[in-house]
Amino acid sequence: MICAALPAAAASLQATDESRRITVILRYDDCSAVSPTDIELRVLESVRRHGLNCVFAAIPQVHVHDSGYKGVQAAQGADEQENCAEEVTDVRPLPQEKSALLREFVRSGTLEIAQHGYEHRRLQNASVRGGNTELFGRGLELQRQMLASGKAALEEWSGRKVTSFVPPFNSYDNDTLAVLEELGFLNFSAGMLDAVPEYCKLSVLPHTCNLLQLKDAVARARVSSSAQPMVMPLFHPFDFTEYDSRKGCISLDEFDSLMAWLAAQHDVDVVTMQQATTQGKNGTMTGNAVQTDASAVSLYDVTRHMAHRCFMLFSLHPRVAASAVPVGARLVLPQPEEAAFLRLRLLLATIAGYLVAFVMGLVAGRLSGTQTLFEPQWVAGILIVVAGLWCLMLLRRRSEIYYNAARLTVFFFSCIAGVLL
Ligand SMILES: [Zn+2]
Repeated sequence: MICAALPAAAASLQATDESRRITVILRYDDCSAVSPTDIELRVLESVRRHGLNCVFAAIPQVHVHDSGYKGVQAAQGADEQENCAEEVTDVRPLPQEKSALLREFVRSGTLEIAQHGYEHRRLQNASVRGGNTELFGRGLELQRQMLASGKAALEEWSGRKVTSFVPPFNSYDNDTLAVLEELGFLNFSAGMLDAVPEYCKLSVLPHTCNLLQLKDAVARARVSSSAQPMVMPLFHPFDFTEYDSRKGCISLDEFDSLMAWLAAQHDVDVVTMQQATTQGKNGTMTGNAVQTDASAVSLYDVTRHMAHRCFMLFSLHPRVAASAVPVGARLVLPQPEEAAFLRLRLLLATIAGYLVAFVMGLVAGRLSGTQTLFEPQWVAGILIVVAGLWCLMLLRRRSEIYYNAARLTVFFFSCIAGVLL
């Protein structure tokens, strides 16, 4: 009887285990005419060797001056000596030799080409986080022209429909999203903190970590209460020590070992962005083919992304609040129910943190008001001036307000209240 029960228990455990599948999407950005082809081929060969796949966010025609990859261009023997005036207008589509090499990986199902903007222009705009953008505020018509032209170019050389989009600098506006839907894109990938309007119909697949955080992210996903947590490591050419020995954080050999580790994880599905959107739609994934069942709900609709975006104000949360959510919670995209639970924990811990600052300020103010040699009004006046200056400093940081500063402000004002009471 025990013998009969054991397989049943094992089967039930297995079913539980199998009910959680961790989705991993490898996103490599900035593939272009001037990105390091040798490194990209090594990456693709490694991914293919381990039976995995990945997404290359490719720039249709790179603006060389803005790309940040001029060193490679020089190393690859660009034959012309450019002057500054030429640099500013130098845009290059992917050379035929390079597109032919990449096309092989697309055909074999190892690679999905996503569109990465148009020229990857680095335009300054104080309204966007990071200050750089190619698309934000450029208007509907211009963005329509740029993105349509870029999509056509990528589809021509890749031989596949391009349905995934990655905005340069993770910067975009609502016009961008409208144009993407109009042009038939299905998937969109920026950062976890970026807002997407509720009406957006695209699947939203934000990057969640980098390559060095991948193992931690998968470990965190394993203890997630979501049935299908998603992890998307983002990497660039400059992450490889072979390309940039100073900034690089991983060698190609280490990348290969990481891919071997990833392939050995029994509960991990490594998929492309296109394949991810077919998850939950009857579970069908057919190579690079795209499911277009409009009635099926994507696992990655905007609701899920926005539910997790609660971590946007993470810098306002005290350290104690950070410890109230699991380590690495920011490395994984959970499903909405788990995100709501994490948000509640974070909110309660944050309120507790500010309450402590408030009570401490009140006590300090009360003590200084009763035991100082100065009149309480003088003490309160000095504190008001300090708190006012502090608030001005906070405002100068615009959207970036840090918890320590916010906590000190609460402390100062409660101190004033304590003095005057
Ligand atoms: Zn980029």
